[in-house]
Amino acid sequence: MSTPNPTPITGLHHVTAISGPPQPNVDFYIRDLGQRLVKKTVNFDAPDVWHLYYGDQEASPGSILTFFPFVGARRGHAGPGMASAFAYAVAPGALDGFAQRLKGTRSERFGTEVLTLSDPDGLAVEMVADPEAMEQPGAFHSATLTLRDPEPTARLLADGFGYAETGSERDGAGERLRMTLPGDGPGRVIDLWRPDAPGRSIPGAGTIHHIAFRARDDAHQDALRERLMGLGMEVTPRTDRQYFNAIYFREPGGVLFEVATDPPGFAIDEAPEALGTALKLPPQYEPRRAAIEDALPPFKGPA
Ligand code: ZN
Repeated sequence: MSTPNPTPITGLHHVTAISGPPQPNVDFYIRDLGQRLVKKTVNFDAPDVWHLYYGDQEASPGSILTFFPFVGARRGHAGPGMASAFAYAVAPGALDGFAQRLKGTRSERFGTEVLTLSDPDGLAVEMVADPEAMEQPGAFHSATLTLRDPEPTARLLADGFGYAETGSERDGAGERLRMTLPGDGPGRVIDLWRPDAPGRSIPGAGTIHHIAFRARDDAHQDALRERLMGLGMEVTPRTDRQYFNAIYFREPGGVLFEVATDPPGFAIDEAPEALGTALKLPPQYEPRRAAIEDALPPFKGPA
């Protein structure tokens, strides 16, 4: 039974994935896809690892893709209990150019054209044709979760966040259930994918670590936390992530979910025109800046 949701959300905030060495990752997302590096920092839980944030020019929530690059990371494999792909909304006329330059495979999903690219670590990066979208990928269209049983996740998305089922379709490999939020914000779609032959789930390079949903502010996040706990989720207390506040929980299908606040945003410690140009450290690591900088694997921005 569903009760009216007092705390609906507007869409995805960010997607966080694991990659191999930083240089091929930077080259692909900046040079090939035209993303902006909007923050260069470290994993707050392990400061010898980069945390790179890509986004649109304004570093808008709903466009943020982040990576933890590990130089020696083994390649993982997306399987049940993981987010297995994310998608940008891209103007239909721009797909041909990306397909010519970057190959990929084309398909149709719910009557819409999709181009699926593979990043240097094998992560599935999709572009969904959207007449309202820009030619340059920026705003997210969706994320796909691979699940053995989509039903409990669908209920959680509906009751916890305000999603509604908007379609389902089969192709040769499995069944896709589409969940959509009302409104016109970026990243309003979550696809729940049930493969006929679920492979193994192996975390590693080229896999998504978690996806984050948007909360308007701390009060909205508090209300969502209370609601999610009422639905039986074990939600962490709030963590300060410098650019947003975060809470985390594992949804019933096993995927790690985060709820991140829009404020304060990425311009809190850099001017908007300088985003991503300097190594930014949270206050607890500033005293160790020189040692941290020395230990991080170097990479060059694209020419
Ligand atoms: Zn996150």
